[in-house]
Amino acid sequence: MVIFFVIRDFDDSTPNFSQNFFKRNLLILPASKMKCEYCEKEAVENIYGRYYCENHFVKYFLGRVRSIIDKFGINGRIAVALSGGKDSSACFHSLHKLKLDLLPFYINLGIESYSEICQKKAEELCNSLGYRLHIIDINEYGINLADEKKPCSVCGTAKRYLMNKFAYENNCKYVATGHNLSDVVTFALNNFMNANLMNFRGNRPYLEGKEEYKMVAKIKPLYWLKDKECMLYVYINRLRYAEEECPHAISAPTIQIKEWIHEMEGKKPGIMLNMAKSFWRLEEMIGSKAKLNICRKCGYASYSKICKFCKIRKR
Ligand code: SF4
Ligand code: ZN
Ligand code: ZN
Repeated sequence: MVIFFVIRDFDDSTPNFSQNFFKRNLLILPASKMKCEYCEKEAVENIYGRYYCENHFVKYFLGRVRSIIDKFGINGRIAVALSGGKDSSACFHSLHKLKLDLLPFYINLGIESYSEICQKKAEELCNSLGYRLHIIDINEYGINLADEKKPCSVCGTAKRYLMNKFAYENNCKYVATGHNLSDVVTFALNNFMNANLMNFRGNRPYLEGKEEYKMVAKIKPLYWLKDKECMLYVYINRLRYAEEECPHAISAPTIQIKEWIHEMEGKKPGIMLNMAKSFWRLEEMIGSKAKLNICRKCGYASYSKICKFCKIRKR
């Protein structure tokens, strides 16, 4: 099949549009112009063989998000983690469109200019939708990623902990993150490739909270949506997001895995969806044998006497 990229309407008012967006073949249509299946407008996306115009694509997107909300009976205040990037922006905007009770927050990782740019974009998005953005500063806990040998590992531990802590302290029933289908499959495959079965958790769209461990329930509203669909949603809705990538991301092995998955998906649409379903099922079958404790230092959940976050924090 001949493919081409759809590039249109670029001017200064268009949100930052990643060059990588095009490099990664995120908007792909057949060479002949196709019409939407639900109206006569020009199609902008082909999803599993069906063509969608902008309006119907947005309906499809919100429908996928709604399916997660309904399936798990999400009802109550949701702390929404904003990173300034496209996925969390799409996640926040879609939950806002579905009229859920939201509390957006941003964790400033203190990474050179990157963190400041991302914070600004997250603030702009919140302002445009009428919310105040809550800021958490990782440096206040004595963590400086620039000093770390494995910054991504420390960053992941800190983000998971601080997200939960923020949600718990602000009486939220849930924490929502912008992980999408591409992320879920990449994460699971990466753990497989590293024979890391104990880390093979978190592939489900919903993880129950545990009040006795101060653990707030986690949801991934974009679980059924691919990278390119999130990008298209952001583009259609003209959402503010940071185009910049974290300087530490260059060395992340997951980038290659993600590119490989997208290549496979291009050849056989639906592969990612099936992998996510398999990983979800597998996770349920494996269960979690690890015993939870309460951290002696901070009182939050831990798999050992002292939680990972208390081990990495210097203050
Ligand atoms: Fe954190 Fe950057 Fe690594 Fe992502 S790439 S985990 S933001 S340090
Ligand atoms: Zn249509
Ligand atoms: Zn602790």
